[in-house]
Amino acid sequence: MHPSSEVYHEDASDPVGEADPEWVNPTDRAIRGCDDQGCGHFGAPRGIRTHRGADYTADSGQNVVAAARGTVTRIGYPYADDLSYRYVEIQGANGYTVRELYVSPAEGIAVGSQVSAGQAIGTAQNLTTRYTGITNHVHVEIRRNGNYINPAMLIPNP
Ligand SMILES: [Zn+2]
Repeated sequence: MHPSSEVYHEDASDPVGEADPEWVNPTDRAIRGCDDQGCGHFGAPRGIRTHRGADYTADSGQNVVAAARGTVTRIGYPYADDLSYRYVEIQGANGYTVRELYVSPAEGIAVGSQVSAGQAIGTAQNLTTRYTGITNHVHVEIRRNGNYINPAMLIPNP
């Protein structure tokens, strides 16, 4: 059979020509180093698992901004046993999704909200009551078409 009979289909979930998001540091702080509760970089060991995000240090109560422009697609609960903790998920351009954990959503931030990169979406929550000796931080997970990406590859350090 002649090879030209094969039809090439472009993946509609990865549109050609759409620009990647412009990334902003969510807390304007560095990634947390290692403390009593482990290390904050992508791939750090977490028992039998690995850390699939990066932790940007934060002061409890400080403003947290959207790491990318997009639509809020989910406001959820990272812990089933403590519903005071929250996360905000934003779907950005070009197949990227970013989830920012331990963020108390700001008033007016809801599923369907359009946010710009750097726009305040909430305030950092206090993790030290749950994890002794931890450095307060916002845990950031970035996926592209379902695959986890090291946020440090995209988000600038201050
Ligand atoms: Zn983390």
